[in-house]
Amino acid sequence: MAKRPVKILDGGEIAKKHLALLSREIQRLNHAAGRKCLTLATIQVGETKDIALYSNYLAKLLARLDINLHSLKFSESDKEAEMIPRISKLLFDESVTGIMVFSPFSKKKVAEFIFLNLPAHKDVEGRTFLKSHFGVFSPTALSVLTLLEATGCNFVGKEAVVIGHSDLVGKPVAVLLADNMATVAICHKETRDLKEHVRRADIVVAAAGKPNLVKGEWIKPGAIVIDVGENVANGKIVGDVEFEAAKERASFITPVPGGVGPVTNTMLVKNLIRLNELHHKKNGNC
Ligand code: NAD
Repeated sequence: MAKRPVKILDGGEIAKKHLALLSREIQRLNHAAGRKCLTLATIQVGETKDIALYSNYLAKLLARLDINLHSLKFSESDKEAEMIPRISKLLFDESVTGIMVFSPFSKKKVAEFIFLNLPAHKDVEGRTFLKSHFGVFSPTALSVLTLLEATGCNFVGKEAVVIGHSDLVGKPVAVLLADNMATVAICHKETRDLKEHVRRADIVVAAAGKPNLVKGEWIKPGAIVIDVGENVANGKIVGDVEFEAAKERASFITPVPGGVGPVTNTMLVKNLIRLNELHHKKNGNC
């Protein structure tokens, strides 16, 4: 029997469709309020090349969608005691819809202060999702789910493996898959036989941050492979999965770059809209 051709999940195309819908929703909200309804606040210390690139991209995306951006920038030489009152004001500013903290964030005590005090209804990155009933999932986890949904796959009873158990990627992905009735194994750097877990899986989500950790030959024929990893190897951005070999066996696979990343940015905007709703519910304006 002829092998079915693998489908490459084009994150850029999927993101474009979602952004068009979200943009319409934002226009509706702005029109009803007679002003820009959504404000994203970002907090950063210093500026790496990655932060500069991402914040430029984000500023353009938000401007295009008519969303306010409030950037709170500190330098490495700023004193923690001076930073805290400014951050505190931002955390409790009712005009701010969502708050995002750029990594790396070198001031550990300030980071602790932020994450202890960040209200769940402003947590656009889903950092409090394990603690909060109404918190949102991280944009990356929602991106993984969106890409899986784009395959049309029915998750019920499927064996899934999530490689990586960070609070912002692996854990929320595993919860979302379990909520969709998949049977989920969570692997991490102490997992004894990663290969066996991958071999059994109908759905593989790789989020370890290790280039080509998942060998193509481990992939079960017909499995869906979502590669979250973004690593630089030999001057190129690569994922955690051996793409060329894995695509010979998978039914669907995401490329890196161009898979999870573009959809993640869209899910950040979706979370802002959700936080705006939560804000109104919290204040009793339903
Ligand atoms: P992290 O460092 O916080 O967590 C890595 C996880 O991988 C840990 O649970 C660790 O135990 C596990 N791990 C490490 N080595 C392993 C191994 N050899 N075998 C099995 N598990 C192993 O990283 P993170 O923040 O969760 O990010 C993971 C990757 O996803 C990174 O490459 C990051 O750049 C990428 N990422 C991409 C997006 C996106 O939108 N595309 C968003 C966030 C993170």
